[in-house]
Amino acid sequence: MLVVVMGPPGAGKGTQSKRLAELLRIPHCSTGDMFRDACQRQTDVGRKATEYLQSGRLVPDSLVEQLVMERLAEIDCRQGCVLDGFPRTVPQAEQFDRWVGQNYQPVSVVVAIEVDEQTLLDRLADRGRQDDDRVVVQERFRQYEALTLPLLEYYRGRGVLRSVDGVGDLDEVFKRVQQTIEDTKSN
Ligand code: AMP
Repeated sequence: MLVVVMGPPGAGKGTQSKRLAELLRIPHCSTGDMFRDACQRQTDVGRKATEYLQSGRLVPDSLVEQLVMERLAEIDCRQGCVLDGFPRTVPQAEQFDRWVGQNYQPVSVVVAIEVDEQTLLDRLADRGRQDDDRVVVQERFRQYEALTLPLLEYYRGRGVLRSVDGVGDLDEVFKRVQQTIEDTKSN
C-alpha cells in the first residue's frame, strides 16, 4: 500500500505517519527527515538543500524527486510505504504519478490532516525546533498555501483524497487516520 500523508506545518503529519507505518508494517519515508539527515552529514544533496531548509522554502523539485525515487527503489519499500512530506507541489505529484505508473504501485490514499490556523500556530510555538523560528514558520505557511494546497485539488480529482480532522490528542487523531485506511482497504 502506498499512502501519502499531507498537512500544514504543525498538523502532526510526522507523528501520525510514523504510527501509521508501524501499524501497516511498511517503512515511514519522510523527505523532511531525509533532508535534515543529508544536511547534517553534509552530503551532496545536503549541501544543496541546507539554505532551503533554513529559510523554510521548499527544496527544488528535482532534488526531492531523486531522493524519493532512490528510497522507494530500496528493498524494504517493495510492499509500499507511508510517504510523509512528498509530494508537496503539483509538478512533484505529476512527475511522481508518471514514475509510479512505470516503476511502483499507484497511490492508494492521500490522508490530508486538517487543523485550523490558530491551533497550528500554538503548536509550532510550543515545539521550538531549530528551523521553527517565527520568520521561518511564516515562510513555511506561505509555501504550504501557495504550493501544497493546490495538491489537495489534484488528488481530489483523482479520487484518492481523504480528509482527517487533526484537532484532538494524538490517539484520537490516529484513530481517525486508522479508520480512513480501513475504509480505503474495504472499498
Ligand atoms: P518537513 O519535515 O516535511 O516539514 O520538511 C522540512 C523541510 O524539508 C521543508 O520545509 C522543505 O524545505 C524540505 N522538504 C521536505 N519535503 C519536501 C518536498 N517534497 N519538496 C520540497 N521540499 C521539501
